[in-house]
Amino acid sequence: MIKRLSDPQLLDVLFPFHFILDEGLAFVQTGPSLKKLLPDPISFEHDFKLVRPGLGIQYSFESISSYTDQVFILKPKSVDAVSMIKGQFVPVEEPKQLLFVGSPWIMHEDSFAKAGLKIRDFAIHDSLIDLLQHLRVQQMTVEDMNQVNKMLTRKNEELVSLNKEMTAARHDLELKNSELQKINSELDRFVYSISHDLRSPLLSIKGMLQLIPIKEKTTDGTNKLLKMAEKSVNRLDQTIQEILDYSRNSRLELKITEFSIIQMIEGIFADLKYSTEENVDCTLEISGSTKIKSDKYRLETLLKNIIGNAVKYRNREVNNAWVKVLVKNDKTNCTISVADNGIGISEKTLPKIFDMFYRGSNAVSGTGLGLYICKEIIHRLGGTMDVESKAGKGSVFSISFPLSN
Ligand code: ATP
Ligand code: MG
Repeated sequence: MIKRLSDPQLLDVLFPFHFILDEGLAFVQTGPSLKKLLPDPISFEHDFKLVRPGLGIQYSFESISSYTDQVFILKPKSVDAVSMIKGQFVPVEEPKQLLFVGSPWIMHEDSFAKAGLKIRDFAIHDSLIDLLQHLRVQQMTVEDMNQVNKMLTRKNEELVSLNKEMTAARHDLELKNSELQKINSELDRFVYSISHDLRSPLLSIKGMLQLIPIKEKTTDGTNKLLKMAEKSVNRLDQTIQEILDYSRNSRLELKITEFSIIQMIEGIFADLKYSTEENVDCTLEISGSTKIKSDKYRLETLLKNIIGNAVKYRNREVNNAWVKVLVKNDKTNCTISVADNGIGISEKTLPKIFDMFYRGSNAVSGTGLGLYICKEIIHRLGGTMDVESKAGKGSVFSISFPLSN
């Protein structure tokens, strides 16, 4: 109980939501901020509902005075935005009055603005300001998070659709790939069977040409024509043979056996000697084991091509044409280089020689398939192939491939 309220201004500053009731519970005075909420107060009972303390309390001076040690929660009946005002009643002795001090109970910034209140309507010491500040920060954080969340949701949607597109594209690709594989193997089979079918009648023609007695060949101009026919047949046979080599390499699994590399290369030398009129000095040098484990058929096809090229593209203007084959064998790897002092390859031509059907010169016959097949074969053997060459000087073709154990 306080004796007397001396300075109403002090109350206005410290408790802007205060009010003073007389013994009949009529408003004697209302704080400046409360005035904003209740511009025309009529009476305590008319304007406020008592939310707390609950049961037992009545709208009478005595009843309220007996609860001065309790927190009061009042609901302004005519203001929707501010749901509650929380505070305490203090009895005054002279004149007999009840002083209420407190402030609105605000849980959200919106209701604060809706009630037409501003920060400065609160006393500086009012902790509600901190709460409002806190709410504002929280609100901002929530808004930021909502923003981020929205962005993430959007990105997620984008990713989901991208993923769908990629899955569809992959599916499409897989389909195309398997179609392509099917077409490829059909094409391989087709090439193989056609080459086979073409080769049998060709071999018959070849045989028949050889059966024509020399005597008959020498009469009139037929001799020349027969020689040309034989040459053409041989060329056609070689082309078919190459197509078969290509097809075999792509169709058949690797077949690893142990064999003598010396025997293989000397066999190639002998075949070439048989088919070349001029003399080319072919030599073989080997370091390491003479036996190797690899795919014999593929390696022989490859070496026939590059040693054959070294002989074929010899320099016909010199009389000491040579081909040197060097084999280096360690336990895991085999390197074979084929060097010649032939016509060599120009810088411009060099990058194209492994292309399918590419021919650098028409001076000698060929299909342009040889090195393409070599490249495919070395790929199947898991090795590499290199070339160094200078026009007019000669070439070195080297292959290197892993050995099976
Ligand atoms: P094919 O081997 O199919 O009968 P080709 O010998 O012309 O025909 P590749 O073996 O693929 O085909 O060689 C491609 C080209 O590379 C040749 O036309 C030739 O110009 C060049 N070439 C290859 N080896 C040598 C070499 N040792 N010396 C000079 N040129 C070469
Ligand atoms: Mg060739």
